[in-house]
Amino acid sequence: MSSAKTKKIVKRPFTIRTKDQKKPKRRIAKIKVKVKAEKPKPDGLVDGLVLAEIGPEDPVRRLPLPSPRKAVSRKPEPPTKLHLGKMTYSFEEGGAEMRDLLGGKGAGLGEMTRIGLPVPPGFTITTEVCRRFFELGRQLPNGLEEEIHRRIVELERKTGKEFGGEVDPLLVSVRSGARVSMPGMMDTVLNLGLNNRTCNALVVLTKNDRFAWDAYRRFVQMFATVVLGMKKEPFEEVLKRYVAKARVASESDLTALAFRNMTSEYKALVRHYTKKDFPEDVFIQLRMAVEAVFNSWNSRRALEYRKHAHYPDWWGTAVNVVTMVFGNMGPDSGTGVAFTRDPSTGQRKLYGEYLQNAQGEDVVSGARTPVKIAELEKQQPKIYKQLHEIADKLEKHYHDMQDIEFTIERAKLYVLQCRSGKRSAAAAIQIAADMVKEKYITREEALMRIEPAAIGALLHVQIDEKHKGAVLVKGLNASPGAAAGIAVFDPDRAVDLKREDKKSILVRPMTTPDDVHGMIAAEGILTSQGGATSHAAVVARGMGKPAVVGAEAMLIDLRARQFTVKGETIKEGDPITIDGTTGTVYKGLLPMAAAKLTSQFEHILKWADEYRRLGVYANADTPEDAKKARDFGAEGIGLCRTEHMFMQQDRLPVVQEMIMAETPDSRRKCLEQLLPMQREDFRGILRAMKGLPVTIRLLDPPLHEFLPNMDDLLVEVTELRLSNKADSSELSSKERLLRRVRQLHEENPMLGLRVCRLGIVFPEIYQMQVRAIMEAATELKKERVDVRPLIMIPGVGTVTEMKALRDLVTAEAERIIKAAGTKVNYQVGTMIEMPRACMVAHRIAEYAEFFSYGTNDLTQLVFGYSRDDAEGSFIPVYLEKKILREDPFQIIDQDGVGEFMRMAMDRGRQTRPDIKIGICGEHGGDPTSVDFCHKLGLDYVSCSPFRVPVARLASAQSVLNERAAEAAGEKKVDQD
Ligand code: PEP
Ligand code: MG
Repeated sequence: MSSAKTKKIVKRPFTIRTKDQKKPKRRIAKIKVKVKAEKPKPDGLVDGLVLAEIGPEDPVRRLPLPSPRKAVSRKPEPPTKLHLGKMTYSFEEGGAEMRDLLGGKGAGLGEMTRIGLPVPPGFTITTEVCRRFFELGRQLPNGLEEEIHRRIVELERKTGKEFGGEVDPLLVSVRSGARVSMPGMMDTVLNLGLNNRTCNALVVLTKNDRFAWDAYRRFVQMFATVVLGMKKEPFEEVLKRYVAKARVASESDLTALAFRNMTSEYKALVRHYTKKDFPEDVFIQLRMAVEAVFNSWNSRRALEYRKHAHYPDWWGTAVNVVTMVFGNMGPDSGTGVAFTRDPSTGQRKLYGEYLQNAQGEDVVSGARTPVKIAELEKQQPKIYKQLHEIADKLEKHYHDMQDIEFTIERAKLYVLQCRSGKRSAAAAIQIAADMVKEKYITREEALMRIEPAAIGALLHVQIDEKHKGAVLVKGLNASPGAAAGIAVFDPDRAVDLKREDKKSILVRPMTTPDDVHGMIAAEGILTSQGGATSHAAVVARGMGKPAVVGAEAMLIDLRARQFTVKGETIKEGDPITIDGTTGTVYKGLLPMAAAKLTSQFEHILKWADEYRRLGVYANADTPEDAKKARDFGAEGIGLCRTEHMFMQQDRLPVVQEMIMAETPDSRRKCLEQLLPMQREDFRGILRAMKGLPVTIRLLDPPLHEFLPNMDDLLVEVTELRLSNKADSSELSSKERLLRRVRQLHEENPMLGLRVCRLGIVFPEIYQMQVRAIMEAATELKKERVDVRPLIMIPGVGTVTEMKALRDLVTAEAERIIKAAGTKVNYQVGTMIEMPRACMVAHRIAEYAEFFSYGTNDLTQLVFGYSRDDAEGSFIPVYLEKKILREDPFQIIDQDGVGEFMRMAMDRGRQTRPDIKIGICGEHGGDPTSVDFCHKLGLDYVSCSPFRVPVARLASAQSVLNERAAEAAGEKKVDQD
C-alpha cells in the first residue's frame, strides 16, 4: 500500500440546527485533507494488520442527534447574560486575560499559542455556556452545536485531518478547566473520535495496530466511565483477565489482537449496563463528552472541593477541545510534567517527571513509574533543550513559576498546559525573593504572591513530607506544627517522662488549668473536645506547641489510660504523631523536618513592614514567649494573660490557698506569697520587651478553674470516708476544699464571677497584681530599662466597673511610684468583649486610655454561642448546611461582631480621638480578620508569637490590595 501524501477535496455532510429551526439542516462542507494513506478495505487484514469488521451498526454519522439527558435545574448565581454571544474561542483568539471566560487551562493554551509555543490546535467553550447549561436544566444552549461544528471544520483545516475521517482521522481530547485549578476534580475524555472506521484508518496510517487498538480500548473505557457514568471495575476485570490469559507482566505487553478483542468486550459491557450501543458517531461522542464535562462541575467531589476552597458554585467550567497528540507512539514519544523551579524548595532548576512511550493517564493511574526529567536529557537532548527554552520563555512571560504538561509525539514536542505552579510555603518565599532579585517582579508583587496562612507552618517543626503515616483520626488544627511522642493521659505522667528525657503527647478529653504543667512538659496536645478557642487551643498556641483539639471520634477512657478510635485502641505508652497544621493524628512516630527561617523569609517580612499600616503585637505570657515574639517582629505585647502565671505547678497550691481564704486578710497573706513570683514574671517580660508596650491583663478566669474538679473531689472524699485507713487531717482538708469548690460552683461560669467582676469582688487580687507590675517597672526603670506597661482590665460592661477599677489601679500604681521615687509612664485601659461595653464605649473611654477587643468573648456573647462547646457541637453542622459561612471563632463575623467593633471604635474615638485600639482575641492572627481590622481602622492586631509573621504579611497585603483597588477605581473614573 502506498503511503505517499496527496491532497484531495472531500465532501462531507454535517448537520446544523439554528435557533428558529426545529429540524436540523444538512450541509455539505468542502474541505481539503492531506491523504497520507490508502483507505483500508472494509474488513479483514491489510498488510497483516488487525482491522475492525465494519457492520451496519457502524455508521459514519448517525442523525438526528438523540435528545440530551434530562435533569433538575440548578440555577447558578449570578445569572448569566441574556444573550450569550460568542460561545467558543479558538486558541488563537484566547489569552491570559480571559481566565474568567475561558478558564485557566483555556486562557493558558490561548496565551501559549499567542506567544508561538507548540500547542496542538483547539478551541474553548466558555464558562458562560456552562452557566447557561445549568440554567437550562443541563441542556446545551441553542446554536452551540453549530458553533462546535464550525470549530471542528476549522481544526480539520489546521491539521489536515478529518473528524470521523476514514483516512487521517482527527482525534481530540475534551478537557475541563475552571478559572482556578481544581486538580482532578472534574472530567476529561481522551482519544475522542475513535470508532471502528477511524480506528482502522489509524491502524493503516500509523502502521501500528497495537497503538491504535490500545487507544481505542482506552477511549471506550474512559467514555463509558466518565460520560456514561459506569463503574471502572468491570473494565478492570476484563483487563486483568486478558493479562492473566496472555501470561504477561502488564497490559503494556498485550498484543493488538488482545486490545481489539478487549474493545469488543468493553462495548458489550456498555450495551449490558446502559442498554444502548456505544456511540459510534463522532459528533454524538463529542456532544456527550461536552455535556459530561459541564456536568462534572457539579459532581460531588467538585462541590466538596469548592466548599473547602471557598470557590463559588456559579463560576462554571470551560471545556477545551484539543487535537490529540500521542506520547505512546514509540520510544521517541512520551509525556511528562515539568516545573520551572523546584516546587518544594523553590530552587531554580527544571524539575519534573517523564514517562517514555506513554499517555498522561499512565502517569496519573500510577500504572508505570515516571523517571526524573533529567532522563529526558539523556534520551532526547534536543527536546530537553527545547523544553528548557520553553520553560524560560513561560517564566519570563508570566513572571511566575510555571507547571507545564507536555507530550512528545515522534520526536516533536507539544505543550498541553501551563499554569502557575503550586508550591510549598518555603518555595513560595524563596521564589518570590529570587524573582525580585532577578527583576521579574516588584517587591509588591512578591508580597502578594505569598499566602499568609501558609507561612505559619514554616515556623514550626513539620512532618517530613516524604513520610506518610497511618491516619488514626482527624480533629481541629488548633495550633500548627507537628509533634511525636508516646500517648499519656495524665499531666503528671508527661512531667515524669520529660524528666526521663522522653517525648509525650498529652491526650485529654479537654484541658483545664490543672493540666498546664503537663502541657508544658508534653510535645503536643490532643483533645477529643473543644474548639479553636478552647483552653487547650489557646494555651497551646500561646506556647507555640502543636495541638489537635476536638477529635470527637476518639473515645477516651482516662481510668484505663487509653483511647479507642475506629476499633483501634491506643494505650498509654503507644507512639503517636499529631499534625497541628492539618489536624491529623497518626499512629507511630513519624520523622520530623526542622523549621527553617531563611534570610529570604526575613527579607520578605521586612518588605511587608515597609507597607503595612497596622501594628503587629503578640499575645505572650512569659519572658521566653516575649523574646520569641520580638524575634518574629512583634512591636509590643497586646495581651499578657496573668492567669497562666498562676497555673505553674509550684504556684498552684498558693493560688488555691488564696482562693480558699475566708477573709480578705487571710487572702492578702497568700497574695503576699504570690507577689514576688508575679513581680519576677513582669520583670522578665518588661525587660524582654524594653522600649515596646506591654499590655498586662489583670486576672480574668473564674476562680474554680484553679481548683480541682468537683466530681473528682466528691469521689475522693467519699472513698476517704469509707476507707478505714482514712487520715482525718487529709479527709478534713479535702472536705474543706470540696465546700469551697461547691461555694464557687456556677452553672454558667463563663457568665459568672470572672473578668473585671473578680476585681470588684476581690479587689486585693488586682491590687497585688498592679503592685507586682509597678514594682517590676520601677525597679527596671532604676536600671535604666525603658519600660512601657499598660494595665488592662478585662470584660468591662458598665462605666461604673471601669471607673471603680481604674481608681483602684491608679491609686495602687501611684502609691508604688511614689514609694519608689521613680516616674514610670503607664496607661490604664480595658478589653472590649461585652456587647454592652460596645454600646457605652463613649462613656468607658472617659476612663480608658486604650481599648483591646477580646473577640473570643465578644463572639461568644454576640452570637450567644458557648466558645467552649460550639465548635465541638453544632458549628460543624452549621458549616455543612451553610447556615454559617465561616467558623466565627476563627474568622471575625464582620456583619455582627464586626459591627459591634465598629460601634465601639466610633463611640470611643468620639470621647477620646487618640484612643489606641487593637484586638487580642484569637482572630488577631487570622489573615482575613487582619484585613478586616485594617479596613476598620484599628491601630494594631495582637496574636500568638508564631502568627506574628502571618499578621505582618497579611496587613501589608491589605495595604497593597487597597492601593490596587484605588488604582482600578481611578482608572474607571478616567474611562467614564
Ligand atoms: C478574648 O476574649 O478574646 C480574649 C482575648 O480573652 P480570653 O480568651 O482570655 O477570654
Ligand atoms: Mg476574654
